[in-house]
Amino acid sequence: MKLTFLGTCGNIEPRSESHARHSSLLVGYRGREVMIDCGEDWLDTLSEVKPRAIVITHAHPDHAFGLKNGAPCPVWATAESWQSLDGFPLEEKRLVHPRRPTEIRGITFEAFPVQHSIRAPAVGYRISAGAVSVFYAPDLVYIQERAAALARCRLYIGDGATVRQSMVRKEGDQLFGHTPVMTQLTWCAKEKVPKMIVTHCGSEIVNGEEYGVRDEIRALARERGVEVEIARDGMGMVLR
Ligand SMILES: [Zn+2]
Ligand SMILES: [Zn+2]
Repeated sequence: MKLTFLGTCGNIEPRSESHARHSSLLVGYRGREVMIDCGEDWLDTLSEVKPRAIVITHAHPDHAFGLKNGAPCPVWATAESWQSLDGFPLEEKRLVHPRRPTEIRGITFEAFPVQHSIRAPAVGYRISAGAVSVFYAPDLVYIQERAAALARCRLYIGDGATVRQSMVRKEGDQLFGHTPVMTQLTWCAKEKVPKMIVTHCGSEIVNGEEYGVRDEIRALARERGVEVEIARDGMGMVLR
């Protein structure tokens, strides 16, 4: 499985050379690729990426508004996301059913509901190809069925909106927002996922990467016996 981090930014103003565009991941296997998420930053440059398939986690602007003018390929999303993206001129809409694995271009995607937004319900994807599984959840408070989602995953690719400070809020009895990297590293330790890659970076990481944030995150990971890496735009890796 080949991973290319096209973009690694959350829904924030600050940008840097390493974090210039909204988070998006290109997953490849045997020469075929699928793009996950297509935020507003990709609106004018989607033609450069030339995706053959796009899968969406949720309907927030930094994950789906790059599709405002349409897409050159089929797009997969949950029924809830399609409701929000109703006005977008997309010709090939495909439905994602949570917990039902679907093969897209030779790669298996299984959507797991994650708590994140009340108005734009989100999923994370367990992605499997060959012998490798990874989990991708750029925005979340928690994964409803975490043990099943992360079982035997080689990598957890998670939400970098905040490092230690909780950005979880409450409306009625519903939680929304972002859980810190620190907590997600604890999930990795509990579910025996050896490594986390931090994407969807917030201002704390984008502004602080040169000033010790990287060391802080590494220390949190080391305490939990997990490896960690902060993704950069354009970063690639191959998992065998
Ligand atoms: Zn986001
Ligand atoms: Zn979001």
